[in-house]
Amino acid sequence: PQDRKATPPRISVIGTGYLGATHAAAMAEMGFEVVGVDVDPKKVEALSAGKVPFFEPGLPELIVKHVQSGRLRFTTDIAEATAMSDVHFICVGTPQQRGSNAANLKFVEDATSAVASSMTHDGLIVGKSTVPVGTGMRLREIVAGALPDGVSAELIWNPEFLREGKAVMDTLAPDRIVFGGASEQAEALMRVVYAMPIATGTPVIACDLPTAELVKVSANAFLATKISFINAIAEVCEAAGADVSVLADALGHDVRIGRQFLNAGLGFGGGCLPKDIRALMYRSSELGAYSAASLMQQVDEINMGQRQRVIDLALSALGGSVLNRRIGVLGAAFKPHTDDVRDSPALNVAAALHLRGAQVVVFDPEAGATAKAMFPTLTYVDNMEDAVADADALLVLTEWAEFVDADPVKMHELVNTPVVIDARNCLDADAWRGAGWDFRALGRPAPV
Ligand code: NAD
Repeated sequence: PQDRKATPPRISVIGTGYLGATHAAAMAEMGFEVVGVDVDPKKVEALSAGKVPFFEPGLPELIVKHVQSGRLRFTTDIAEATAMSDVHFICVGTPQQRGSNAANLKFVEDATSAVASSMTHDGLIVGKSTVPVGTGMRLREIVAGALPDGVSAELIWNPEFLREGKAVMDTLAPDRIVFGGASEQAEALMRVVYAMPIATGTPVIACDLPTAELVKVSANAFLATKISFINAIAEVCEAAGADVSVLADALGHDVRIGRQFLNAGLGFGGGCLPKDIRALMYRSSELGAYSAASLMQQVDEINMGQRQRVIDLALSALGGSVLNRRIGVLGAAFKPHTDDVRDSPALNVAAALHLRGAQVVVFDPEAGATAKAMFPTLTYVDNMEDAVADADALLVLTEWAEFVDADPVKMHELVNTPVVIDARNCLDADAWRGAGWDFRALGRPAPV
């Protein structure tokens, strides 16, 4: 085994999706020699050529920089990666299981087992994926059973809090670093790995394994709850003639509440929040902790209901039926600054209207290709004007800046009927109404 104090630890990153590719590039930027491993040869080939197979601002530049510097490379060969590294980050997916709310832990188990069984010298296995509490303990057993004779490894958890769209900055300068279940030696090694952010003041929380796992899950559960809270209040606003946007601004001035995640509208989606709250629902029930389970159930129900409420707004704006009506959809990604359409509320609404017989024309600045792959039967166009042209109704489903900044007067000239549904509460209602639009939004009834 190498003397860890003498030389900088070398790093492997298992799984090079949104999380892993960003983490690998950031580790190279922090000065380490890094190898990224993925079972998908296409991903490895693209990343090796400096191409990122998804949209993440700033990431291609960082990957190119370090592939060229020689500090970062990618392979499908786990044994090649473990042979040359000392710290192994597990960054594979933990999607929702089909037919259940539980997380599918197969990828995490396979990756951990593959790392442990191919290790040639002592090392540290660091879980980064979001997992149900208790997973790390089980993985420790898998590691113990898979390690070759004479090799020892410790497994700890270091959850990741990055946001898609801001992933590079979030990884280079995180709000906090949490690691759970680390021995003194492992903690010292983690402090070397994260020396850069620690030096600039990022707080470190060293805790036990289950707490570390649960910090991440609770962070996502809290954010999801905040969104569903404001959406529940939006329903009251609508019934009472109040404006949820003004209300959210007023609430947000209270530092105990804060303005972020208080935008009422179509609700959350993506590859994390929905599956993470469902996994918490499942896991907390399993543990007999029913309050968390029922809270998450309610948060999920409110959130999914928002999609139906936007569909209902479109139906009522078009007189009860969307059959053969042309609907311009602005946005397919689950949020701006990403091309991720996993469980995207925007794509979900667009698809639902299509299935009711509407002619849906979708434009997204970045997610056109991923949306087309996920839902090929919709019509996709390359610019906003083509989506708006001749529309009987316009739906703003993802709050990209170019939609927020669109000129309602110009848009009015393009459409067939000036009906707009601002499903993200991101447009200036007065400006759109002033330009002659029938403007509709959740939680903001038209003034009487
Ligand atoms: P992803 O699907 O984009 O990437 C997962 C990658 O792992 C894929 O490229 C897949 O081919 C690869 N993989 C699967 N099995 C493998 C194996 N045995 N060996 C090597 N590679 C393997 O998923 P993601 O969005 O990067 O999420 C990964 C984890 O990180 C999840 O647990 C997620 O909840 C968590 N997370 C994601 C984000 C985010 O914003 N995307 C943020 C924080 C945490």
